[in-house]
Amino acid sequence: NSSKLPGTKTSIFSVMSKMAKDYNAINLSQGFPNFETDQTLKNLVTEAMQEGYNQYPPDIGVQSLREEISKKIGSLYGKIYDSEKEITITNGATQALYSAITAFVHRGDEVIVLKPAYDTYEPTIKQNGGIPVQIQLKGENYKVDWEEVRSAVTSSTRMIIINTPHNPSGSIFSAEDMKELEKILTGTNIILLSDEVYEHLVFDGKNHESVSKYPKLAERAIVCSSFGKTFHNTGWKTGYCVAPAQLMKEIRKIHEIVVFSVNHPMQVAYANYLKKPERYLELSKFYQNKRDLFLHLIKDSKFNYTPSNGTYYQLLNFSNITDEKDVDFAERLVKEKGLASIPVSVFNIDEKDNQQLRFCFAKTDETLERAAEILCKL
Ligand code: PMP
Ligand code: GLN
Repeated sequence: NSSKLPGTKTSIFSVMSKMAKDYNAINLSQGFPNFETDQTLKNLVTEAMQEGYNQYPPDIGVQSLREEISKKIGSLYGKIYDSEKEITITNGATQALYSAITAFVHRGDEVIVLKPAYDTYEPTIKQNGGIPVQIQLKGENYKVDWEEVRSAVTSSTRMIIINTPHNPSGSIFSAEDMKELEKILTGTNIILLSDEVYEHLVFDGKNHESVSKYPKLAERAIVCSSFGKTFHNTGWKTGYCVAPAQLMKEIRKIHEIVVFSVNHPMQVAYANYLKKPERYLELSKFYQNKRDLFLHLIKDSKFNYTPSNGTYYQLLNFSNITDEKDVDFAERLVKEKGLASIPVSVFNIDEKDNQQLRFCFAKTDETLERAAEILCKL
């Protein structure tokens, strides 16, 4: 077989969104809002275009945007990243993750991945000759068993990837989790890759525990985030990563090869837009209301669930409805009932998630009502 990634299939997000379109179904599968991004932000992009920001920006990203990101992280998490040496604007978090893994994972290196895991991590590790070491998150709340992580560490462990708030479960790391991680990593040269694309979507008054808040973690960490998730414009594909200069230097080598730089007018617009922190600080409340509405609307359905703590996803367990496997049930739901979701087993290793579907509640109230109507009839 000449394929470099023989086991890798078309992403479930592409599969389900296409199926939703083909069957004219309500799409609660792939994670994107079905409402518009702020008109003010769109105007800022138009203005940036009119002002002539239409050629290559600096490879590492527009300076004013890197400065705003540095300020944001400083005020939220108390760590100042040097905007010249420690921050890079990327083509969404996807490319930040790709560049970070590719920069550091050599053939034979082990990378600890917590399952269920976002679908780009493992193919990227494998493409670089690395070996994913999978650890299952435990229980209804998808908690990390830190003892298991500790015993998975070997002399070949190059990196550990974490994701909080977690896609697809909506679980979040606590301060205790971060302390445990700190204990495991102290004294090693393991690199920490932290996927924090849902950092501004944390519910019920809880805090986002960014790696940036923990100096002993931050000194060895690459933190990735995404404006698409925060500002309702996933199609603009703009994100960033931050890391200590000596790590960032290596990431930028890959970044230059893969994309060199990313869209210019959007970066200029985001830099202006970020000047008002309430624009991201109010997001948790906004999505908590969506989660609460969705859960209220399905409260009389046969699904079981633990309310999501963050992200814009809710897992629903359907074992009271059918014995089908999630992949089959998800397919039938689109074709026969007109509702698309994401089967969770696709991200996992064992049987744990065979009867759960992920629903994206970043939708208008009207869409959530129509979806809930279908779910309540099952
Ligand atoms: N990581 C996670 C956990 C995600 O859910 C996503 C999807 N947005 C990404 C990374 C990729 O983000 P982006 O769309 O900015 O590339
Ligand atoms: N992150 C989004 C999700 O989990 C999808 C991103 C993508 O389509 N690659 O649904």
